[in-house]
Amino acid sequence: MSASVRIVLLGAPGSGKGTQAALLKEMYGIAHISTGDILRQEMADETALGQKAAVHMKEGTLVPDGVILEMMESRLLSPEARRGWLLDGFPRTLTQAEGLASLMEGIGQKLDAGVILNVNPEIVVQRLSGRRVCESCQSVTNVGEMRPSAVCPLCGGALIMRPDDEPQVVRKRIAVFEDQTRKVFDYFRANYDVVDVDASRSIIEVTEALRRALDRYDHP
Ligand SMILES: [Zn+2]
Repeated sequence: MSASVRIVLLGAPGSGKGTQAALLKEMYGIAHISTGDILRQEMADETALGQKAAVHMKEGTLVPDGVILEMMESRLLSPEARRGWLLDGFPRTLTQAEGLASLMEGIGQKLDAGVILNVNPEIVVQRLSGRRVCESCQSVTNVGEMRPSAVCPLCGGALIMRPDDEPQVVRKRIAVFEDQTRKVFDYFRANYDVVDVDASRSIIEVTEALRRALDRYDHP
């Protein structure tokens, strides 16, 4: 518990990004800053920025980068982020990456590394193909080791496969992600330290690889 890091976590759908983010937050005692969570929080609190974002969500247009960056600034400076932070879901575009760079410069903070969770699409397809959601209680189960007739272990409800988890949809989502974020990856490689981790391995192995790679960014 000596390290303190500031990182951006980048990972394709099915890379286990959310799981690893939670584990890293715990391991280093840093703030987990997720764009989706920030937007939901600001809208629920009906802040000025939240109301701006809500208008865009209602109209189905993208929340402007400036609004997201403003929300992010207060998170990066919050007491929870004193020991460091982990950005999750941001930046997604080159413009956002550049916006983040100038935000950090403005508040005198420095990114330690961009962390890229690399996946083999076929392994993700395999991983997600056993995932089912309960129609009644919405809990997620993996049926990999269950009989085909298995029902929800919590409530006995029917288990359904989410359309997002269908193999052809998973392959498509990964391809779209890679296409959209290629420029962001290139930007990070050109401007920051980048830690590449093979996220096709087990959760524990990936966490251990991340810990080994990140422990050297130790600042008091
Ligand atoms: Zn259930």
